[in-house]
Parts: sequence; C-alpha cells; structure tokens
Amino acid sequence: MVYDLIIIGGGPAGLSAAIYAVRYGLNTLVLEKGFVIGQISTTGEVENYPGFISINGIDLMEKFSEHAKAAGVVVESRDVLGVRSESDLKIISTDVGDLETFTLIIATGANPKKLGVPGEEEFRGKGVSYCATCDGPFFKGRNVIVVGGGESAIEDALILSDLAASVCVVHRRDELRASKMLQDRAFAKPNIEFSWNTELEEIIGDSIVREVVLRNTESGETWTSPIDGVFIYVGVEPNTEFIDVDKNDYGFIVTNEKMATSEAGIFAAGDCRTSILRQVITAASDGVIAAFEAYEYVSAMKHKAE
Ligand code: FAD
Repeated sequence: MVYDLIIIGGGPAGLSAAIYAVRYGLNTLVLEKGFVIGQISTTGEVENYPGFISINGIDLMEKFSEHAKAAGVVVESRDVLGVRSESDLKIISTDVGDLETFTLIIATGANPKKLGVPGEEEFRGKGVSYCATCDGPFFKGRNVIVVGGGESAIEDALILSDLAASVCVVHRRDELRASKMLQDRAFAKPNIEFSWNTELEEIIGDSIVREVVLRNTESGETWTSPIDGVFIYVGVEPNTEFIDVDKNDYGFIVTNEKMATSEAGIFAAGDCRTSILRQVITAASDGVIAAFEAYEYVSAMKHKAE
C-alpha cells in the first residue's frame, strides 16, 4: 500500500499536520518512535499555549493525541532510520520494515544539549530550564544564571533581564560568541552581570534549585552561589540525521515559508527546521502549513496521472 502522506514524529508539529491532512482526505500515517512523546512532555506547567491558562506539558500532549485520534489519525510506533526517493515514491526505512508514500513531512523535533553536571537532570523543571520564553515568567523578581555565551544564551539572558531581579551569564571563555548587537544590548542592561572563564560544576537544592557550584577555569577556584534558576544554552540537536535534504550548519532542515525542503514532496515542520522561535504554537502552525502543501502536492500528482 502507498500512503498519500507519512509524517515522521508525533509531537505538536506532526499531530497538527496529521489532523489537517486527514481532514483534507489524505491517506495519512504518523510514525512515532518515543515512549514519551514530544519535548513538551518533558516539562512541567505550560502557560503560553493559547486556550490553556496553565496546563501540564504531559496533559497538553495528551490533548493533542486525543484530538488526533478523534479526527481519525493513525499513529504507529516506529523508529525511522532512513528515507530514499524512487521515481514519484518516498521509501521510508524503519526498525520494522519499509513503507511507501507520495509525500513526507518530517516533524522529528530537536533536543536541548545537556551540560551533564550533577543536579541538571534532577532539577529539570524545578529550577533548571533550557528556554526563557517557556519558563522565564516563573522567575519574576528572582535571581538566575544563564550558562553559555552564544546567540541563544544572550537572547534569553535579555528576555530574563526583563523579568528576573538579576541575571548572571556564566561563560567558560572570556568573550561571548553572540552577535555584537546582542552583546551591546546585554552589556547595557544594569541587571545582567558576567562571570567570565567560569564553568558550572553542580546544581544543588532540595525540592527546587537553591545554589550552584561554579569554578574558575584559570585559577581552578570553586565557590557556591545561592540561585533560584539555572538556564542552560550549550546547543540544540535536531533529530534530522536520517534524512538527506539541505540543512544549515547545525543540522536544522532548511525550508521555505511553505515548509518545502530541497527535495520535492518532502516537507519539514516544527523544531527540526530552521526557525526563529521553537514553541508548541509555532510547531503546530508549521505542521498545518506543511499538511496543506502536502495535500496540494499529492492532488497535483494524482491530477497529472489521470
Ligand atoms: P517534538 O515535540 O520534539 O516532537 C518530535 C517527535 O518526533 C518526538 O516525539 C520524537 O520521539 C519523534 N521522533 C524523533 N525522531 C524520530 C524518528 N527517527 N522516528 C520516529 N519518530 C521520531 N514550548 C512552549 O510553547 N511552551 C513551553 O512552556 C515550552 N516549554 C518547554 C520546556 C522544555 C524543557 C523543552 C525541551 C521545550 C519546551 N517548549 C515549550 C518547546 C516545545 O516543546 C517544542 O517547541 C515543541 O515540542 C516542538 O514540537 P515538534 O513537534 O516540532 O517536536
């Protein structure tokens, strides 16, 4: 059997695409490899998805799944290992055999890289965060550190400086990698300070984060600092290694505004693609645009064959 559309990834982008695709009448299948589905299931309260003043991340993902099921979306538990094109068909290799489809939407998301320090996993969602847009408001009037010196770290330090009482950027080098414009804005903020040549060694707390252990990379000196929140920016890894389309230097899939990739009939949506903001709402939005374009693609293909 040849599907009209296969969607790889059953997170917010994939399920939003699927709900629209089945409503366009496309014979659609979603492939999801995870037991825990979607990054949003790894967080606590979500307070910025319209329609829900506050909802637990797992509950929000469950609502997406319920909606998709009610719309008639079929999800199979499979890990996608590779994709190849054979004339008009895309062949999807999975851990349990190959599948064939006319169009494909890649919605495999991305994951924040971990620092790997003691306490990071234990206090994730209890003071440790990877996203100021998501969690900044929980730290209103509090003291936070931002770990990293790149573009995302400084962008989020600026967001946090409008909410938190103080922001300390902890960076293991003596200069930032972020653009000059962002650096100038950060240096001008009275409540952002910088701890140069410093590494985060440990995060300590009880039910929430209480303090961090920092180390000077030159002198080796370590010290403890009381803190309410730790925001970590040491990179983001997109789940795109299995697909051979144009990507940027960091592995994010390059698309146009129609979510089309460099390969005809292959679309990408959500956190796995080049994007200026990675949120549930932007992933859902990408997904429905990709579904519409997949519908147009399949319709044109079938029309040509008639
Ligand atoms: P994902 O949610 O990552 O879903 C991708 C899915 O694809 C996953 O289920 C994965 O298992 C599956 N997959 C990957 N590779 C394969 C493969 N090879 N085969 C089959 N399946 C595969 N956003 C907000 O709007 N508000 C918040 O408060 C918020 N808080 C966050 C807190 C944390 C800790 C994190 C990490 C993110 C947060 N985000 C938040 C961001 C939000 O979770 C993401 O933007 C959103 O989940 C992206 O959706 P997606 O569908 O593109 O990708």
